[in-house]
Amino acid sequence: RPPTIAVVGRPNVGKSTLFNRLAGKPLAIVDDRPGVTRDRREARGRLGDLDLRLIDTAGYEDAKDGIEARMRAQTEAALKHADVCIFLIDGREGVTALDERFAALLRKSDRPVILAVNKCEGKQGDAGALEAWNLGLGEPVPISAAHGEGMADLYRAVLDAL
Ligand code: GDP
Ligand code: MG
Repeated sequence: RPPTIAVVGRPNVGKSTLFNRLAGKPLAIVDDRPGVTRDRREARGRLGDLDLRLIDTAGYEDAKDGIEARMRAQTEAALKHADVCIFLIDGREGVTALDERFAALLRKSDRPVILAVNKCEGKQGDAGALEAWNLGLGEPVPISAAHGEGMADLYRAVLDAL
């Protein structure tokens, strides 16, 4: 059975963009407005020579009853089904308070967590990638989901985590 990878993180960091890149086709809806929730949640994907099952974790983003509780529930549900979790942050924005709360949740998880710092094309996320060490989740992997950069490093991180 192919390993299952859950992509988690706060709205607008590029989860759907990464999901689509790994799926090899546009299954999830990418939108620059936080809160677009019609995403496909699961797909088969590929990274290097690895076949994957992908889980996106949209759905909490339109929560009327507080984003944090929904986010927590969605993330915990995804983690239950995942062999590895990719926690995505936005390297251009740097680490936010919501990222820090996510990280606290993920540090308690018994699943391996890969911290990927997105939007790092052209080194524009370098400062964010450095700051990401503070999240206590190991070595941050700079990527650009939109441009396909850093995928070899992401592959290595997934292999190490499996
Ligand atoms: P999600 O809410 O986490 O699923 O994020 P989306 O995948 O919908 O992306 C949110 C916004 O970030 C969209 O405008 C994307 O085009 C943009 N985005 C995603 N990945 C990258 C990237 O690698 N670089 C840059 N510059 N923008 C990105
Ligand atoms: Mg999305």
